[in-house]
Amino acid sequence: MSQELYYKTASELSELLEKGEVSSVELTQSVIDRTKSVDDRVRAFNSFDEADALFQAEASDKRRSENGALGPLDGIPVGIKDVLAVDGQPLTCSSKILENFVSPYDATCIQKLKQQGAVLWGRLNMDEFAMGSSTENSAMGLTSNPWNLDCVPGGSSGGSAAAVAAGETILALGSDTGGSIRQPASYCGIVGLKPTYGRVSRYGLAAFASSLDQVGPMGRSVADVAILLQGIAGHDERDSTSYDSETRSYLESMNSLEGKKWKLGLPKEYFANVSDPSAMEPIEKAVEFYKNLGCEIQEVSLPHTEYAVATYYIIATAEASSNLARYDGIRYTHRAEKFDDKDSVDIYCQSRAEGFGEEVKRRVILGTYVLSSGYYDAYYLKAQKTRTLIRQDFLNAFEEVDALLTPTSPGPAFKKGTKSDDPLEMYLSDIFTISANLAGIPGLSLPCGYSDGMPIGLQILGKPFKEEELLAIAQEFEDAHDYKNQHPNL
Ligand code: GLN
Repeated sequence: MSQELYYKTASELSELLEKGEVSSVELTQSVIDRTKSVDDRVRAFNSFDEADALFQAEASDKRRSENGALGPLDGIPVGIKDVLAVDGQPLTCSSKILENFVSPYDATCIQKLKQQGAVLWGRLNMDEFAMGSSTENSAMGLTSNPWNLDCVPGGSSGGSAAAVAAGETILALGSDTGGSIRQPASYCGIVGLKPTYGRVSRYGLAAFASSLDQVGPMGRSVADVAILLQGIAGHDERDSTSYDSETRSYLESMNSLEGKKWKLGLPKEYFANVSDPSAMEPIEKAVEFYKNLGCEIQEVSLPHTEYAVATYYIIATAEASSNLARYDGIRYTHRAEKFDDKDSVDIYCQSRAEGFGEEVKRRVILGTYVLSSGYYDAYYLKAQKTRTLIRQDFLNAFEEVDALLTPTSPGPAFKKGTKSDDPLEMYLSDIFTISANLAGIPGLSLPCGYSDGMPIGLQILGKPFKEEELLAIAQEFEDAHDYKNQHPNL
């Protein structure tokens, strides 16, 4: 075979499986072997269960030979960010407070993947409770960027992105509250999609900021991301914010848009904010590519962009302070051993002090502050109003153009340790991604080149519930370039 199985795309593999040229057991074994040979360096996984993955693969092969496959995901390994509940598996959120917690049920997206025969493969590292941009906030250790082991993989879905890039899984699920799928996808040279808020059920996703969180697909090709989105999207009565719409094939609707001459907008506020000019070159070339394809390119303005980071860090921390109140040392795993017997509040305080890391504490404190009665109007309420203005900016821009092109991040992956002591600097690496969460719109990051050997991502932002348009725009670029077949040297 011309290429190792673990580096083939899900679309190629599902054809090979269908033709009987490979089995899911062979494929899963190849991913397991690859993980064992590189994960001591990449450290993308918090844990995995080899026997369980092979058991699922065997069941897939048997099903295929007896009754036919359940769909394109049948038999394909999908890595799971350690923030999603899988019945009987550890769910740590890369936090000490959940270090021994085992999930008693399946998240809806997991249940759907099981129904489609996907092979659930491992628990992927992340920033603690998805708070961070580098996976350095994990209590489970550092993940490295497969393109340069001294660099971060991005975050918070850094384990998911690194595992896909390193061939330790074929596909992965991530979650994105302010860029956590798109930014690590861009740092690791893969494709990642944050769906429209409401597209994918959040049931069984450990909540960080409920009005911003979305689960989404990560893969090495645009088609793979379309297939995985198809697998997890849809209404769920257990998540009242999930959108009630008929499910469609994203792959088919994406393909039916091929060749369309898109109107693409360049938000001028984003292009003024790139700190690393060499990272802009691939973005500019990508814009040129679309122009040559016959797309109309036009500058647009998103005037409230400058307020996005502040707005996000008020709303996200406020919601986090409330969501994380449940980790009290009583209902979940970590309980302090020493506490004042006469004072139950002391159990909470001690357990939380020991169980949460620095960044989580910082956010809980900040969130509690912005929600406190004297400051609610000045911070939280104002942030909610600004959020509406930010959403309106996008809706206005989409009156003129079909989608927006931007860098995913101000620069490529940075070296470990360079931003971890400076939270503000770290927060600024989300400057291009967080607005999409505030506005609830879909966003995709696509590899579009390199800066000093490190991958650069092009972000495509689109209209609410028009994921197929983002996919179709991305597909045109992917078809004309070879990034999906370029892999790190490990
Ligand atoms: N980096 C952002 C944060 O730290 C976004 C995280 C995310 O999307 N989960 O909040």
